[in-house]
Amino acid sequence: MEQSRFSKPKSIGNKFIRIKCKDCGNEQVTYTKISSVVVCNICNATLARPTGGTLELAADIIGDQ
Ligand SMILES: [Zn+2]
Repeated sequence: MEQSRFSKPKSIGNKFIRIKCKDCGNEQVTYTKISSVVVCNICNATLARPTGGTLELAADIIGDQ
């Protein structure tokens, strides 16, 4: 199920982070507060979704931008 892929990162401030797609390994940068879903530029997988505050991720955090 798509839903179970998402988890909310802990103790993450408002900043840009580099995330890695679990499906294709593509790395891209997103902000920790988003208002719409973030989609992988390569394979179109949903990498993050908004929750009203901090985003929920279905991708690995590589580090700060
Ligand atoms: Zn991808």
